[in-house]
Amino acid sequence: MTYVIAQPCVDVKDKACIEECPVDCIYEGQRSLYIHPDECVDCGACEPVCPVEAIFYEDDTPEEWKDYYKANVEFFDDLGSPGGASKLGLIERDHAFIAGLPPQNQ
Ligand code: SF4
Ligand code: SF4
Repeated sequence: MTYVIAQPCVDVKDKACIEECPVDCIYEGQRSLYIHPDECVDCGACEPVCPVEAIFYEDDTPEEWKDYYKANVEFFDDLGSPGGASKLGLIERDHAFIAGLPPQNQ
């Protein structure tokens, strides 16, 4: 199980969550942030600080945003497990599903 960042983050990227994560597993893509499914320790610290309520426990992700689970997981297919987001900084791409969305939340 892991936490998932869903639609409300896309094109917003407030980044309040990054400050709260004790294991630095919230990675920044071009249009959204992504939680690393294996590095996340399920502490839940990020979820209440997101001002747009974009973060959900995997099982609690609203039905219409279930695809975001896949996006969060597959974003790391070619990154593997870097073991810390801050050293990577902005990763200049997105999961194909996110990249293909029209402008969101504006
Ligand atoms: S706090 Fe919410 S909107 Fe901001 S980056 Fe994190 S998930 Fe995205
Ligand atoms: S649940 Fe905890 S470990 Fe997982 S992304 Fe949020 S703050 Fe980080």
